[in-house]
Amino acid sequence: MASGSNSTTAASEKSCSSGDPSRKYGTQDPKVRANITCIFCGKMCKGGVYRLKQHLVGGFTCVVKCTKCPEHVREEMREFMQKKEMSKVESVMNSKTYADVFDLDEEEEDEEVTGSGKASQAKKPRVKGVMNMFYGTIQSEKQKNINAVCRKELRNKACKEVARWFYDAGLPFNAANYDSFRKAVEAIGQFGPGMKPPTMYELRVPFLQGEVKEVDLLINEHKKEWKVKGCSILSDGWRDSVVQKEIINFVVNSPKGSVFIKSLDVSEVTLNADFLFKLLDAMVEEIGEKNVVQVVTDNAAAYVKAVFVIYTL
Ligand SMILES: [Zn+2]
Repeated sequence: MASGSNSTTAASEKSCSSGDPSRKYGTQDPKVRANITCIFCGKMCKGGVYRLKQHLVGGFTCVVKCTKCPEHVREEMREFMQKKEMSKVESVMNSKTYADVFDLDEEEEDEEVTGSGKASQAKKPRVKGVMNMFYGTIQSEKQKNINAVCRKELRNKACKEVARWFYDAGLPFNAANYDSFRKAVEAIGQFGPGMKPPTMYELRVPFLQGEVKEVDLLINEHKKEWKVKGCSILSDGWRDSVVQKEIINFVVNSPKGSVFIKSLDVSEVTLNADFLFKLLDAMVEEIGEKNVVQVVTDNAAAYVKAVFVIYTL
């Protein structure tokens, strides 16, 4: 037993210089290099040496823990993985751009195949893979601190890009207050690296149509409520002093809530009682005469007269 462990140590020192110490604990399939069989339990790990290490250390969701791996090997692998993550973090923190971080492939280490041609490539500092640490199950206090700094940096960079988009497209700043914006950012984050943004076509055709359908479904729910419990029509006339337009908004309220129905530009017409009556009457028809309990409007004289006509009909 003692001689066995001595030989592993010797092998470890030797292979450390050439690359990954986990290679001695697995036999690589000569045809499919990513397939490595664990020498302890015989399990084949299909994700290269990285997966093999996860198998040996245990605690990763993507692969089962090796049941036969000796404790000192487990410890060796754990230390190696931690060291590797730390060096990745450090190189990322020292580099100006994080772009490399994002085209991560967990199996990158597979490229470190021992061979003279690849040897020089393997010596390059690797910044890829830093995101792994956020999800790793082995996190020391020091790593957590680095994560916090790293996350702050990454957030700064993301926010800067979002801000640039706002300035570029001339989006109003209060667009950032929208709940939908928060949800969009969250969803992009959940997708992870490499998300293709929606195209102009996608935004104006399929997604818009989908949204219209969803709103229709939502309004249908309200319509059912109007029939059962009745509703109020609220009309609000106002003047947009920026574009010099007279606008009337119609909203229907029921115990379920308020629904915006339409907005009319009435700048070109005289707002007399006759016109308003026609407008409100058409609205009552649209909502369903039986459902409308009351009509609420501004108290301008023309409105009052129009509403009076409706009630007396
Ligand atoms: Zn195993």
